[in-house]
Amino acid sequence: LNPHENALLEDLNPPQKEAVLHGDGPLLVLSGAGSGKTRVITRRVAYLVKVHRVFPWRILAVTFTNKAAREMRERLTQLLGAQANELVVSTFHSSAAMILRREAEAVGLTRSFVIYDDGDQLNLVKRAMREARVDPIMQPREILHRIDQEKNAARLPDEMQVDVDNPRGIVVKKTYQAYQRLLRASNAVDFGDLLLLLVSLFRKRPDVLANYRRRFTHVLVDEFQDTNPVQYELLRLLAPPPSSNLVVVGDDDQSIYRWRGASVDNILGFPDSYPGAKVVKLEQNYRSDQNILKAAHAVISKNRRRMQKTLWSERPPGENLQLIISRDERGEAQEVARQIHALQREGFIKYSGMAVFYRVNAQSRVLEEALRLARVPYTLVSGRSFYDRAEVRDAAAYLRLMVNPRSDADLLRVINTPARGIGDTTVERLTDFAEQQGSSLYEAIARPERIPGLNTTAARRLAGFHALVTSLNGFAQGATDAASAVDQMLNEAKLVEAFTAEGSDESLTRAENLKEFLGAAQEFDLNRAAAAVAAATAQEAENAEPPPPEVDAAPLTADVPPLQAFLEQISLVGEADAEVGEGRVALMTLHAAKGLEFDAVFLTGMEDGIFPHSRALSGLEDPEEGEGEEMAEERRLCYVGFTRARRRLFVSLAQCRSLFGELRYNPPSRFLRDVPPNLFGIEPEMQPAPRPAAAPVAPRRRSFDDDGGPRIDRSYSQSSDMEGVSGDVRGMRVRHEQFGVGRIISTDGSGPNAKVTVEFGGSVGLKRVIARFLMPG
Ligand code: ATP
Ligand code: MG
Repeated sequence: LNPHENALLEDLNPPQKEAVLHGDGPLLVLSGAGSGKTRVITRRVAYLVKVHRVFPWRILAVTFTNKAAREMRERLTQLLGAQANELVVSTFHSSAAMILRREAEAVGLTRSFVIYDDGDQLNLVKRAMREARVDPIMQPREILHRIDQEKNAARLPDEMQVDVDNPRGIVVKKTYQAYQRLLRASNAVDFGDLLLLLVSLFRKRPDVLANYRRRFTHVLVDEFQDTNPVQYELLRLLAPPPSSNLVVVGDDDQSIYRWRGASVDNILGFPDSYPGAKVVKLEQNYRSDQNILKAAHAVISKNRRRMQKTLWSERPPGENLQLIISRDERGEAQEVARQIHALQREGFIKYSGMAVFYRVNAQSRVLEEALRLARVPYTLVSGRSFYDRAEVRDAAAYLRLMVNPRSDADLLRVINTPARGIGDTTVERLTDFAEQQGSSLYEAIARPERIPGLNTTAARRLAGFHALVTSLNGFAQGATDAASAVDQMLNEAKLVEAFTAEGSDESLTRAENLKEFLGAAQEFDLNRAAAAVAAATAQEAENAEPPPPEVDAAPLTADVPPLQAFLEQISLVGEADAEVGEGRVALMTLHAAKGLEFDAVFLTGMEDGIFPHSRALSGLEDPEEGEGEEMAEERRLCYVGFTRARRRLFVSLAQCRSLFGELRYNPPSRFLRDVPPNLFGIEPEMQPAPRPAAAPVAPRRRSFDDDGGPRIDRSYSQSSDMEGVSGDVRGMRVRHEQFGVGRIISTDGSGPNAKVTVEFGGSVGLKRVIARFLMPG
């Protein structure tokens, strides 16, 4: 063994080594949580470069979030030094964006195309509905969702199959067609397009595809279980079966993006798509203590369709899981804050080793308040929040307009921001005119006197705005860094000035946010410069042989102007991308937690209707027939949540909770009932006769009182949900998660599976539901 080889292999177990050492051809690494999948990917990349002398620019490593990509890059920089800069380590979306920008002309875009976000998409759908004159039988949101689904499935509008007698399908298809037309006219793409357009380009242009196949001889994918069909198609194009060097690692039990079109089938079917693929299973978990693993196993083993794998650990049993029961969500948040403080005081676990998870974003507000009051430093890991602020979105819209004046959505956003006296009527006349002319809005305001029905003042103001955009566009073309362009834009558009002049606390904060936006651009420029220097020195130091002449080995972003690169980066900031500050507790949704690990994890809102999400609870579902796909996905999410914890796992619930302005009494989560009580430190003989909702609660009360845990409200055992039917309940007012409020008409059976017929209000009408899913109305 040469010394490199030794250093890269010594702390791997035999199957991990096998995966790193695997020669050519496809490889699937399949394993449970915390077994070193991500470690294997990183090591394999380093091994390819150091030992097999593969050019780093030949390697494409794809991960799920920007944050994960950043972490992987940091690890690789430690292992490879400056050479790591030549690797492409990124998310599906950003690698697709980089390639698409190089090939923009081939798909009807220019290189300065902009990326529209969710809000822009919705506006565009509305416009597309008008232009396509579709029957208004569907909401724009719903149509947008369907369009996104088509894109996830890798289907362009013309490839969408719709029956002639399916009016809704026809509405979607027509809108989708108009929507794509409008996007192209604006020289813009949405998120789905980044992948879809690239796939369709690769399908149509084998010559273009061949360039990238020649270049990327090694493709590696982490979190493979969450790829959707369009992503998988992209992989298959770049690294076609049967013999490409495609390495995918994943865990079918952690597939949690079904709602974005991801499918467990990708991982289950990989050996069929790539016949002869080597399969390596990793079975040793290095992350979590035994009790945590057992709890995770108890929850996930109820899912029926799973790949067979075993997970074991040499770690000690560790501490018991801890259950926190509180009266309401405020109590829950205070108790979480108190426990965090206590853990930190004990001195074994630092703030940065702790995380608080929740199922839906809305739960975070109360948690944040409690942590702030308790003076616990924390970071909310919701990377987008800064870029979602109105003033920051305005600034971004100006920037996009600056590089791409044809972007109608951006023009409409800022045409009267800051206020310059351009009213709604003027805008309406402008858009009508542009629509008729088939021109962009920017072209239309070049000669506003041609727009019918405008008075001279309105026309003058439009001309003034046109001059502003033109001037900014001129500046952008010569800009050699992002920050100077942002600075120019803030000054010329008088954005900061407008807020400063207003003078209220709120507007001053907005002005500060805009300065922070400028700061983000400066930081971006610095990083870019540093990376360029590092790449240059790497090449010198290595004294590397030159790339073969037929291969394009340039960095994918080589000739992207800095302002565009900056815009691309901020468009692709995702939900899970915020850096957790040093010495801070991380707050995030369960979805954002994938791939991460913490010494202590708090999983809040463990209630049926919160987690599992109400969507997965169907009162009509028969308990004997087992759970549906949605519930299986919630279970996987719970498995992901539990297995983030290394040493301590706290689960918490509230007896009543206000969320979305509504008061709910949720029974404890069914996932808690699946966890063997002894993992909470409860002896079997202490358990009462099984009662579906309250079983875990009564004994835990005792264990908490004993060790000085939180006080638990004695009234809890009078659980507020209806467990079976007793007495005459006909006429009683009840509430159902999904169907709303109604009155009981008749009952059928008794015990936990008793059913009742309820007349619900509105268009719902009569339903037969399981009584235990009802709450007193
Ligand atoms: P997940 O399923 O959550 O994505 P994973 O399978 O990717 O997890 P890693 O994050 O790579 O697992 O590893 C989990 C933890 O175990 C990390 O802290 C990692 O450093 C450690 N680890 C992995 N392999 C070994 C090993 N052979 N020896 C010691 N520690 C290891
Ligand atoms: Mg991982």
